[in-house]
Amino acid sequence: MKQVHIVGAGLSGLACALRLTRTGVPVILYDAAAQAGGRCRSYWDSKLKRQVDNGNHLLLSANYAALDYLREIRARDRFVSPARASFPFVDLASGDRWTVSPGISPLPWWVFQNRHRVSGTNPLDYLSILRIAAARSDETVAECLPKRDLLWHRFWQPFCTSALNTPPEEASAQLLWRTIRETFARGGKACVPLVPKKGLSDSFLDPALEIVQSAPNQILFNHRLRSLDFEGDRVSALEFGGGRVELGESDAVVIALPPGNAAQILPGLKAPDDSRSIVNVHLRLALAPDTPPPLPENLPFLGMVGGSFDWVFLRDDIASLTVSAADRLAGQPAEEIARVAWSETAQALGLDPNCEYEARVVKERRATFAQTPAALKLRPGARTAWRNLLLAGDWTDTGYPATIESAIRSGNNAAALASGF
Ligand SMILES: Cc1cc2nc3c(=O)[nH]c(=O)nc-3n(C[C@H](O)[C@H](O)[C@H](O)COP(=O)(O)OP(=O)(O)OC[C@H]3O[C@@H](n4cnc5c(N)ncnc54)[C@H](O)[C@@H]3O)c2cc1C
Repeated sequence: MKQVHIVGAGLSGLACALRLTRTGVPVILYDAAAQAGGRCRSYWDSKLKRQVDNGNHLLLSANYAALDYLREIRARDRFVSPARASFPFVDLASGDRWTVSPGISPLPWWVFQNRHRVSGTNPLDYLSILRIAAARSDETVAECLPKRDLLWHRFWQPFCTSALNTPPEEASAQLLWRTIRETFARGGKACVPLVPKKGLSDSFLDPALEIVQSAPNQILFNHRLRSLDFEGDRVSALEFGGGRVELGESDAVVIALPPGNAAQILPGLKAPDDSRSIVNVHLRLALAPDTPPPLPENLPFLGMVGGSFDWVFLRDDIASLTVSAADRLAGQPAEEIARVAWSETAQALGLDPNCEYEARVVKERRATFAQTPAALKLRPGARTAWRNLLLAGDWTDTGYPATIESAIRSGNNAAALASGF
């Protein structure tokens, strides 16, 4: 009987395994690590004595493939989301606070209302979006938006960096437009944020693994793929550190690895080869039990501009701060990063800066590929030169930024192609 071997149990591999399981195709899912999730997972932190995530992850209601995946694994209720799109911000330099709240209508009436748009900006500033909409494929966001006004500092710069994990000076303007077209341009309904209640493993991984684990499937952790053997136009065997797996004539292989790892397995593969870091700092705060979260609108996060960090997320007594495109910060010692994180947290949340805290710094050096105009041209499709070998991963050519949405779409696509062999 035909079997699909999926190498990589991140969200792309899991989404692929889930789809195939649903259609009755047996799968074997392998991962080099001792657990699933790859770049999107929780772990027990012995210093903080808490389960924390490798990094804050946010979904938007426009992430349709991700939401379908959550419905399929019955995890949609494992997320907090406000009734309407709201993004509270603080400017750490000026102390100014505001909330961006796109209205329900796709027509951007909200930019005409002071209390819904970025503080200090005026409606005409937002016409700059038209320049992004008209961007050429070789243009960066900064090339399209040369004006360094308040909207740049308080919206374009943080939005681009968070959405593409690439600074606007390097980021593809067309890819940013793709994000805007799917979110802000569709109105507030498409921009409602979703944040895992307990953590990434609880909301994205555990319920999916439960379904995929069912017989006759197998999930094999601690299995690092070293190489592939080829026979004519097909892959004939998988070579793992500890053994070799021969493939049947009708078996297929899905390589759902990050781009660097995929390129090692498939020499000659054209893939984006430059990446950007994300730094996350988890701070265990000395909050009294049942203290209501000191965040505006009762949302679990707050955007920050004018400092080093972009976002603070709050879950129970853990404040988690994130910086995207953080290659320079990632080069600094953890103690220094934690000190800055605490100072910005105390300011943003109005906490006593002399309070005790414990910190854990997580540096994800290859969080995503650098989403530049040149790198986008290197994103391969799912099919390869070998008839039974497919690619998946957030970096493959889904048309979406390298996000959960892209990972899940790539996995779904690979599953559809693999079941057709
Ligand atoms: C800190 C951080 C914050 C993020 N925030 C967001 C966010 O807010 N919203 C959002 O949508 N996205 C976010 N992302 C991006 C999102 O996490 C990724 O797009 C997604 O998890 C990628 O999934 P993947 O399956 O493509 O790859 P991966 O998760 O990298 O999975 C690949 C798997 O392959 C395994 N592997 C590697 N080499 C081998 C080998 N040789 N043999 C076997 N297995 C191997 C790895 O162990 C891993 O489990 C964030 C990423 C990071 C790091």
